[in-house]
Amino acid sequence: MRHVSGMRYLIRKYSLMKYAILILCIIDMVLLGAVFRVGQSRADQSNDPALPEHRYGAPSVPVMVLGTGDGQDGNSTGKEEKNVQDVVKIAITFDDGPHPVYTEKLLDGLKKRGVHATFFVTGKSAEAYPELVKREQEEGHVIGNHTYSHLQLTKGNRRQFKEELQKTNQIIKGITGCDTSFVRPPYGAWDKSLETELNMIPVLWNVDPLDWCSDDADCITRNIIAKVKENSIILMHDQYPSTLEAAFRVIDELQKKGYTFVTVEEILFD
Ligand SMILES: [Zn+2]
Repeated sequence: MRHVSGMRYLIRKYSLMKYAILILCIIDMVLLGAVFRVGQSRADQSNDPALPEHRYGAPSVPVMVLGTGDGQDGNSTGKEEKNVQDVVKIAITFDDGPHPVYTEKLLDGLKKRGVHATFFVTGKSAEAYPELVKREQEEGHVIGNHTYSHLQLTKGNRRQFKEELQKTNQIIKGITGCDTSFVRPPYGAWDKSLETELNMIPVLWNVDPLDWCSDDADCITRNIIAKVKENSIILMHDQYPSTLEAAFRVIDELQKKGYTFVTVEEILFD
């Protein structure tokens, strides 16, 4: 009996061991599998640095936007942008007016050529010739502020400069009924903090033919044509007959070359 009992004990013990080994094997396989999956996942990520971006989406969004902007997806938005970009824009601007003789002749010539310009008027001249400012507005030109008395901003006259701009804004609004957002500071002297104080945008220039110091229309024309390129802002003064002659020649020549004359906001904001 004792022998039989011993055998049963061994068999039972062996069975228990077998179950224990089986359970250990299962646990071991589960653990091994988990370790393998983690390792595999890390290997994937380290081999493909772009993976987290694709997986989480956000960083890939700008790439999609850029693609659309280039018009590569062939949708209507891309085509419209391409057409807008095909227009080679340029702006012609006239300072110091209006002038009782030359502004009127200039407006006649611009109208004939279908060109819109930007006029930076002084408050003093606008007060003297309001009908010319009104005509500028009615014919689609943009009117900007050039101070009241053509004052150059210096360290000592900021307050007076600001008052001249405010006064000229009121004069322009009194004539046209519209606020003006643009200012051309005489001689380009400007204080950036005035932009927020007055809610105005300074408009400088990048083509200056020095028309005020030459009565040679040929020379002024050549000077402009040599320097001009897409999005140029040309500085002139509707104060001299040579300026008018040069302006008309420049417009005729550049229109033939495919340039489109626009007012300054189309150069600054598009
Ligand atoms: Zn000026």
